Amino acid sequence: MQAFSNAGGGDIVLAIARRIVENRGYLSDIDGLIGDGDHGVNMAKGFSLAAERLRGEAQSLAVSLATLGDVLMTEIGGSMGPLYGVMFSGFADALDSVEEIDAPAFERMLRHGLEEVQSIGDAKIGDKTLIDAFAPALQAFSATAAKRDDFAAALDALIIAAEKGRDSTIDLVAKIGRAARLGERSRGVLDPGATSCAIILRGLAEGAKAKLHASKPRKSREAQP
Ligand code: ADP
Ligand code: MG
Repeated sequence: MQAFSNAGGGDIVLAIARRIVENRGYLSDIDGLIGDGDHGVNMAKGFSLAAERLRGEAQSLAVSLATLGDVLMTEIGGSMGPLYGVMFSGFADALDSVEEIDAPAFERMLRHGLEEVQSIGDAKIGDKTLIDAFAPALQAFSATAAKRDDFAAALDALIIAAEKGRDSTIDLVAKIGRAARLGERSRGVLDPGATSCAIILRGLAEGAKAKLHASKPRKSREAQP
């Protein structure tokens, strides 16, 4: 069974923040096509603020995710502050008191985050939101982890499905959020939230993958002198 340590995982959040900041202009440009053009600006502001708080702290993945969730929730405007705020807080809550993050723990984290977003946003697959990247990514992770007992392969499946889901938003008409006001005119471009969500999930999965090691069964570890 593969796993990575929660305690050593905080820098994954810093790497995600870096990717979001790098994509600031791109995300705002996409939002400019069907929204108000602020998505990259909002996201970069929140993620860089969280990164400033975390830098040099060597926090666990759970604590780093909780800090990011708090910052997004309290400091960021637009739809994304609360939506990504509860998502990252949900991730953090699911990892609370988990030492070694294996595939089932990672899956619980994703599932809890998705439930939190849906509990406040009420979006479903096909509404042209970040859910169109997130839900299939979780589904692919679960299916691969169940079938192959291979955490790394499940993380690869997660990345591929998130990006496929992101691309599926091009052909969709927005049913929820600001872009829904455009009706049919929202068809033909990527959804900005699905695009940022695919960046986040790739960062999370690649960060986890780089840290994977064979986890020892708890019993045999306790039995050692
Ligand atoms: P705003 O629409 O307030 O300007 P942003 O531009 O930061 O906020 O974010 C827009 C993105 O928010 C959309 O592309 C969509 O993916 C996401 N979004 C909006 N409403 C919801 C919702 N109810 N549930 C999930 N995602 C949503
Ligand atoms: Mg916007």
